Amino acid sequence: MGTERATRGTVRPGDVAVLDANGLDALIRRLRELGFETKGPVVRDGAIMPGPISGASDLPVGVADEQGPGRYRLSAAPHSRFFDWAVGPGSWKAEFFPAVQELWRANVDGASVALMEPILDAPPLAIVGMRPCEVASLAVLDRVLMEGSYRDPRYAQRREGTFVAVVECASPAATCFCASMASGPSVDVGFDLALTELDDERGHRFVARAGTESGAELLSSIDHGSASTEDLNAREQVLVAARARMGRELDTEGLAGLLARNIDHPQWAEVGDRCLSCANCTLVCPTCFCSDVRDSSELDGTIVRRRAWSSCFDLEHSYLHGGAVRTSTSSRYRQWMTHKLSTWWDQFDTTGCVGCGRCIAWCPVGIDITEEAAAIARSDTGLASRVELRGVTS
Ligand code: SF4
Ligand code: SF4
Repeated sequence: MGTERATRGTVRPGDVAVLDANGLDALIRRLRELGFETKGPVVRDGAIMPGPISGASDLPVGVADEQGPGRYRLSAAPHSRFFDWAVGPGSWKAEFFPAVQELWRANVDGASVALMEPILDAPPLAIVGMRPCEVASLAVLDRVLMEGSYRDPRYAQRREGTFVAVVECASPAATCFCASMASGPSVDVGFDLALTELDDERGHRFVARAGTESGAELLSSIDHGSASTEDLNAREQVLVAARARMGRELDTEGLAGLLARNIDHPQWAEVGDRCLSCANCTLVCPTCFCSDVRDSSELDGTIVRRRAWSSCFDLEHSYLHGGAVRTSTSSRYRQWMTHKLSTWWDQFDTTGCVGCGRCIAWCPVGIDITEEAAAIARSDTGLASRVELRGVTS
C-alpha cells in the first residue's frame, strides 16, 4: 500500500482496510495510548514466546522457524516479515491461567488468622499477533473456565476485555494441522482485529479486518487505506498456500467414536513404551487446564495457597482413595489423547485439540498425536471395546 492512499476514514465492524508495515507499529502504540498493556510474540531463549511489546520492532522481525517431531529451531529469514513462523512453546494460556498463581495467604498471629486474597486489578490487556489456533484454544478455555457452572474469577478478570489482534498464518510448521481442526490458518470469529501479512510486488502490508466495535475504532484512529480487490485476492492466495503447506492432517470424521471403541487397542501399549511420561505435551498444550492446589508455610508464619498446573501424565494425578488408577504410562497417554479428541466432546461439546502441533514439536521422543490416531484408525475393527470409553477414565 502506498502511503498516498492512507486515510483515517471511519471503519465499522466487518470492514476491511489495509495497513502498511508502519501501520502495525502505529496500531501497537495507539493501544498503549489507550491504556492497554500490550503483549505479542517475541524471541526469547531461542523460541517465539509471548512477551511485552511496545512497538512493532519488538516482534520477531525477519525470523523463521523449523519444527518437526521433537525438534524446534529459529533461523534468520531472507526478508523482514513480522509473522513468518508458526507457534512456539509458550501459549497465551499462561496469560490468563498462570502456571503458578496465588489463591490466598493467611497471617497467623496467636489465635487470630487474617486471610488475604490477591487483588485482581491487572490493566486491560491487548495481544497483537495471536494466531488463529490460539484464538480457538482460548475459546476452548473460555468454555471450561468462564462459561460453565464454575467460573474462575482470576481467569475471567484477565480474559474479559482483552483486545485480540490475530494474525492469520502464512507459514505453518511441519507440525501444524489446524486446517484439519477448522481452527486455522484463517480466522472468522474471536478477534477485535484480524490481520493478514502480505509481502509481494505491491509491497509489505497488512489486510486488516475489524471484528468488533473496539477493533473498528482502533483502525479508524490510525492511518489506513481501503482494501483493493488485489489485496483481497492476495490474502486468499496466502491462505490457500498455507493450507497446502500444512505439515500434518488429522482425519476427524468419526474420530471421537473411533477412540471410544478402541480403548483396548495394542497401539496404546506401543506408544506407552516410547512415552517418557514427562508431561511436556500437556504443559505446552494451549487447552490443557488441569491444576493442583498446594499449601506452603513461609518462614514468617504466613501460609500461602497456590494453584499450579498439573498433568494427567503425573502418577498422582489419578490418585483416588489410596492409590493411582492410571499406573501405566500407556493408560496416561490414552487418557490424555482420548480426552482431547473424544471425551472432551461429551464434556464440553467441542474438541480439546486445535491442531497447533506443540505437543509434537516439544515431545522429546517425537510422539505425534496425528500418527497415533492414524495408527488406531488403520486397524480399527469397527467393534466396540470390552469397556466403553465414555464415562470411564482409566
Ligand atoms: S493436543 Fe497437541 S496439537 Fe492439540 S492443541 Fe494440544 S498441543 Fe496443540
Ligand atoms: S507424549 Fe511425549 S511429551 Fe507427552 S508425556 Fe509422553 S514423552 Fe512426554
